[in-house]
Amino acid sequence: MGKPTGFIEFLREVASEVSPSDRIRNWDEFHLHMDEDKLRTQGARCMDCGIPFCHTGTVISGMASGCPINNLIPEFNDLVYRGLWHEALDRLHKTNNFPEFTGRVCPAPCEGACVLGINNPPVTIKNIECAIIDKGWDEGWIAPNPPTQRTGKRVAVIGSGPAGISAAAQLNQAGHWVTVYERADRPGGLLMYGIPNMKLEKQSVVMRRLNVLEAEGVTFVCNTEVGKDLPVEQLLKEFDAVILCTGATKPRDLPIEGRDLKGIHFAMDFLTANTQAVLDQTETPLSARGKDVVIIGGGDTGTDCVGTSIRHSCNSLVQLEIMPKPPRRALCG
Ligand SMILES: Cc1cc2nc3c(=O)[nH]c(=O)nc-3n(C[C@H](O)[C@H](O)[C@H](O)COP(=O)(O)OP(=O)(O)OC[C@H]3O[C@@H](n4cnc5c(N)ncnc54)[C@H](O)[C@@H]3O)c2cc1C
Ligand code: SF4
Repeated sequence: MGKPTGFIEFLREVASEVSPSDRIRNWDEFHLHMDEDKLRTQGARCMDCGIPFCHTGTVISGMASGCPINNLIPEFNDLVYRGLWHEALDRLHKTNNFPEFTGRVCPAPCEGACVLGINNPPVTIKNIECAIIDKGWDEGWIAPNPPTQRTGKRVAVIGSGPAGISAAAQLNQAGHWVTVYERADRPGGLLMYGIPNMKLEKQSVVMRRLNVLEAEGVTFVCNTEVGKDLPVEQLLKEFDAVILCTGATKPRDLPIEGRDLKGIHFAMDFLTANTQAVLDQTETPLSARGKDVVIIGGGDTGTDCVGTSIRHSCNSLVQLEIMPKPPRRALCG
């Protein structure tokens, strides 16, 4: 624990954001970087708890509490406080293959579980995680690191979402030859075509990591749906093991009166078409421009549709949510 009185002395502060009126003009990420000094101060707020609930991922009443991948949070908070960024990055990579993704889009159950959050705003764990990995990339500390020995075994991974690429990264490091099959035209699963660009940039963040995996020896085969374009029997013949990481493509429908009217779309059709258009620099076939939009669902996916519709310059927007309206200010920060 770097500073025993840090949690008493310093208030929670998060990175500032591009103003809403500016950010809706483009698809760029809108979280700005924080000064190193400020990040170190935020790291000093960590109490290095005897029982760090932040890092113990567990399920309470069906909801995740603490970090599901058991990131070594008190350790990297302390290392950041002491300015030991490279060591913090090593610690972060011990449990997390892709901190630049989680540091941006994880809902941070670690912060919800942070002990300091009982009577104060919790430690800014997600912000610190993101700063560590971004610094790692900026400093050139992250470079292809292929395994020194190969086992000669071949593994096929079906699906290139976070599950598929994490499995590929681990198996490749263990020395196996890994081929990832993806039915979409680009790898990344929902990192690429679900989460919109302003929350997770595709070229500068997602592809940057996938390029490193490729340079380490992982092969990506896109536009190939296993079971349709490629028979399963062929995979079983050519590979020693096959891993299924195909995600959950099936949308949850709402079979109510009027469902078959024109102009009603699933979120993923809308979001995928949009990201494809952003990346290909074309017009999306499903634009909300000039339309009066109703979004059913107030979770992350609904929010992504709000941000996308507003960037399309929709005429009006209403979002419907079954849960009560949350308070205007978060209770813990
Ligand atoms: C709109 C949206 C926004 C989200 N935002 C967030 C967020 O902000 N934070 C967060 O933590 N989580 C978020 N999530 C959830 C998160 O994206 C998923 O939990 C995560 O992507 C699941 O990873 P996965 O690898 O299991 O599956 P996926 O990411 O779905 O990847 C599966 C891949 O398998 C491919 N595939 C399927 N079948 C085949 C086949 N037969 N052959 C070849 N390829 C195949 C699919 O094309 C897909 O690319 C969001 C989800 C959505 C839909
Ligand atoms: S629970 Fe909060 S204060 Fe305690 S170790 Fe984790 S981040 Fe630090």
